[in-house]
Amino acid sequence: MTDTTPSSQSTKKPWLKPTITPLRSGTINKFGAMRHEQWRDNIDGVPISELLEKHGSPLFVVSERKLRENIRHLHRAFSSRYPQVLSGWSYKTNYLGAVCNVFHQEGALAEVVSEFEYLKARSLGVPGNCILFNGPHKPRRILQQAVAEGAHIHIDHLDELYLLEEVASEAGHEVGVTIRLNFDTGYTEPWSRFGFNVESGQAMDVAWRISSSPSLRLTGLHSHIGTFVLETEAYRAQVRIMTAFMLEVEARTGCEIDYIDIGGGFASLNSLQGIYLPPEQVVPSIEQYADTICTELLEATHERSAQGRNRPTLVLETGRALVDDAEVLISSVVANKRLPDGRHGVVMDAGVNLLFTAFWYNHDVTPTRQLNGKPDETALYGPLCMNIDVLRQSLMLPPLDVGDSLIFSPAGAYNNTQWMQFIEYRPNVVMVGDDQTVAVIRRAEDLQTVTALEQLPAHLQKAYPDGAPASQLDKR
Ligand SMILES: *Cc1c(COP(=O)(O)O)cnc(C)c1O
Repeated sequence: MTDTTPSSQSTKKPWLKPTITPLRSGTINKFGAMRHEQWRDNIDGVPISELLEKHGSPLFVVSERKLRENIRHLHRAFSSRYPQVLSGWSYKTNYLGAVCNVFHQEGALAEVVSEFEYLKARSLGVPGNCILFNGPHKPRRILQQAVAEGAHIHIDHLDELYLLEEVASEAGHEVGVTIRLNFDTGYTEPWSRFGFNVESGQAMDVAWRISSSPSLRLTGLHSHIGTFVLETEAYRAQVRIMTAFMLEVEARTGCEIDYIDIGGGFASLNSLQGIYLPPEQVVPSIEQYADTICTELLEATHERSAQGRNRPTLVLETGRALVDDAEVLISSVVANKRLPDGRHGVVMDAGVNLLFTAFWYNHDVTPTRQLNGKPDETALYGPLCMNIDVLRQSLMLPPLDVGDSLIFSPAGAYNNTQWMQFIEYRPNVVMVGDDQTVAVIRRAEDLQTVTALEQLPAHLQKAYPDGAPASQLDKR
């Protein structure tokens, strides 16, 4: 007889057959919290039921307080570590006018990557000299306008350089320009399709070419090494490579670099699919990014500063990390179903048409009331008649009623720009202000707005010009 009481020192533990339990993402495991136990019924003090009643479901809700808090936090973290810092708000991350203007009011420049974004910034009241103009496609007409308005043009390729030389010489005055660099930091996949390569010598050739141009002057260096970059060391490598290039180019061509723009890429507190630790554990804090970047930059520019010259201004183009957690998507349950594999299926009124980032993230899903009942493995689907329309493949949720709503967060980055008008209309976006006022910042689409640009040729004005065909379908 075996004695298995703990007090027995002499006997071995009984042998147990080993078992393997699959850990499915979203279900309970040693890392997972029971999300449904948390619930939230308001956004910055405004009841969600009231928001949905007034503005419909689904609904995007932006927190003005959080936007301001985030950018102040970023500025504080960097300005307390380096003397000269500016940030440019990355329009493509979220270019709703109200969001951009909150950041502009907090002192951010505009970082734009197309003619449309350039004109949008201008229409919001941003002067040309507060625009950082990135991107591989800048047609002649917008380059002409950007040159005339004193924008900071970041050159992406040689054809753009040639075009800009022409535009600048037509304008008849010297134009300060920045070049985008690419290089291998050893941490992130080099985005070598953008800008000029450092290692191959191409970037130095371009700097030479600019220094010999009668119409251009090299004043800045730019690079953007990736997005959702989880290693702060990648930024140390970036700053080291860029400052080494700066010192070399200044020594060789005699130019003076006014600013070093390190792009964006800081991760937000979102869960990337395939990373199982919670974002609070894997995402560096803004202070950690700032510390690495500023320490390296101070060191690399020490000599220059000791010679009595200004250190270059550090420019940030932080997108995702500023806006992601300042916006949520609220969506309501349309239907419940039981799937053949036993899982529970829930159809929501928002899908990947609105929450485009559901392709990469496992968003936080928070009920808007206390849910009772046994949690069950649940798949959350959108309303599209498309198999790809999945908000979450699997998570544990108690039963939901038709009409119940769920909060998907963070949803502020890349959804209001990459969303699609596909099958469904895009809904209202509201902003909750500091004083709990709620403003619609983008109206919901309707049939009129969606079809406003269509035109019907004369012979296609009517579906059935000669009267509808007799229907075979409703004979019986
Ligand atoms: C997209 C982009 C950004 C913003 O990137 P995040 O990863 O959202 O911070 C900044 N600069 C450039 C050039 C970009 O293309």
